[in-house]
Amino acid sequence: KPQRAAEPSGPQKIPGVDRIIAIASGKGGVGKSTVSANLACALAAQGRRVGLLDADVYGPSQPRMLGVSGRPASPDGKTILPMRNHGVTMMSIGLMTNEDQAVVWRGPMLMGALQQMMTQVQWGALDVLIVDLPPGTGDVQMTLAQKAHVDGAVIVSTPQDVALIDARKGIDMFNQLKVPILGMIENMSTHICTNCGHEEHVFGHGGVASEAEKWGVPLLAEVPLDLQIRLASDGGAPITVSQPDSKQAAAFHAIAKQL
Ligand code: ADP
Repeated sequence: KPQRAAEPSGPQKIPGVDRIIAIASGKGGVGKSTVSANLACALAAQGRRVGLLDADVYGPSQPRMLGVSGRPASPDGKTILPMRNHGVTMMSIGLMTNEDQAVVWRGPMLMGALQQMMTQVQWGALDVLIVDLPPGTGDVQMTLAQKAHVDGAVIVSTPQDVALIDARKGIDMFNQLKVPILGMIENMSTHICTNCGHEEHVFGHGGVASEAEKWGVPLLAEVPLDLQIRLASDGGAPITVSQPDSKQAAAFHAIAKQL
């Protein structure tokens, strides 16, 4: 009986990449991309060789958050050279389309693009590759976990019940995919009025801490809802880069030290 050539099966390592950490959320808009960008920059500032793969195929925000534009070059027509800013090597589907252009692709095309970003991009030698996932529990998460050896996932959520319900589904999915949960982050945890210093829990407070406890995973940080964090990301230099010594940046540095 003719033997089929052995095909690589199961999750593979990306050559040169030591660890892959996925940043996930159940819902959109909870700050997963903000956390990914700040975490990558914080890790770089701590001397680690960091890559950031923007796999949020429907709403890629890393080009803007990391201040990267232009098309990545492909000198040999086969491999793609990643971009680099703030000490972070990065690649995003957003660099392959115009900012105003919607990605209206069917699943298989998206998965092709994701695989291309994992296998054809010359990531070089990295201590850690951060993957900014799309929200939810869909094809991208499954494909990533099945094709690449993901070392762990970090779940970002606001303390609001509607976000926590979806975060729970995310945890369940990673458990099924046998990807360890490294911890949870409560984003938009408190808001301190820049005028009067009054502290307000816009989306509630402590919901993620109790959820993390329930699952037996660490609460990595509580990040405040803060104007400077938003302005910095919109300006293309995350707060960990633009105000590295601020208390806002300290929260992200604390997360980086735990990973
Ligand atoms: P997601 O990736 O989960 O969709 P984003 O990171 O794009 O969420 O965040 C959604 C919006 O909220 C962005 O405009 C971002 O700048 C803002 N944002 C996220 N986290 C914070 C925060 N801690 N403080 C202030 N604004 C934030």
